[in-house]
Amino acid sequence: MAEKESSCTHDCSTCGADCPSKANGGKAPEIEKEALNQFSSVKHVIGVVSGKGGVGKSIVTSMLAVNMKRRGFGTAILDADVTGPSIPKSFGLKGDIISDGNGLIPLKTKTGIDVMSVNLLLEDETRPVVWRGPVIAGTVKQFWTDVIWDDIDYMFIDMPPGTGDVPLTIFQSIPLDGIIIVTTPQELVSMIVKKAVNMANMMNIPVLGIVENMSGFVCPDCGNRHDIFGHSSVDEVAKQYNLDVLAKIPLDPKLSALIDKGIIELMENDYLDSGADTIEKKLNS
Ligand code: ADP
Repeated sequence: MAEKESSCTHDCSTCGADCPSKANGGKAPEIEKEALNQFSSVKHVIGVVSGKGGVGKSIVTSMLAVNMKRRGFGTAILDADVTGPSIPKSFGLKGDIISDGNGLIPLKTKTGIDVMSVNLLLEDETRPVVWRGPVIAGTVKQFWTDVIWDDIDYMFIDMPPGTGDVPLTIFQSIPLDGIIIVTTPQELVSMIVKKAVNMANMMNIPVLGIVENMSGFVCPDCGNRHDIFGHSSVDEVAKQYNLDVLAKIPLDPKLSALIDKGIIELMENDYLDSGADTIEKKLNS
């Protein structure tokens, strides 16, 4: 089953498998969305997805949240990626999650971004999470239903990498307003984008755009940008699917240094400024 799901292209028109989505005309079977905690208020929910781990999905999630917070919006991150403690690490977050009797209280970053992460629940962040897919998906659903998200305009969900069972369950159970696809020039961008677009179409969720990360390298000595990975296909792929390229973020040693120190909120770049403008416009039009 897991193998079948991981090879799913989310394109029923070219697939011979007999599965519930196919019976439903290429749409995912309807599953009732989980209800938000009664004390929560969340206006827009954006899923950040990637084809695999290590491409910078978490860093993009963190930077987008910092960007929206600087614009004065109530901002939150729901970290559903259990493959590593990237989100708590980026913001230097540690501490116990407590409940006030009505629900769980997320941790606040220094500038006031609300964060809830599976990784904050682990006693030892270096130990791998050996939970199976349904447990991960169940925990993420609980973060939606049991956490008090107070006055949030933009919530970013750092999705588990890939387009398999766990992200699919999250897509089905949380009312997402859009997804952002993070790719790198070294990947098979067209295949990743195709899978993500098909998955989003199955759920009737718009794709807000693509962020190309590790898009060249900014030399710390001369400050120039070098295309060390050669020609990027992101513009052609985006055109093919009628998507916006929200940003091209270079490999930037300043970024990794900020992440290592847990101070991503002090970033000084404008890599995501126009992408955040586009997201704001699309979600409020
Ligand atoms: P993912 O969430 O896709 O697994 P991460 O966001 O955790 O990936 O990034 C993996 C590693 O690569 C992190 O250590 C991060 O600091 C580093 N990294 C990602 N993007 C950049 C970038 N543009 N510049 C510098 N370092 C980066």
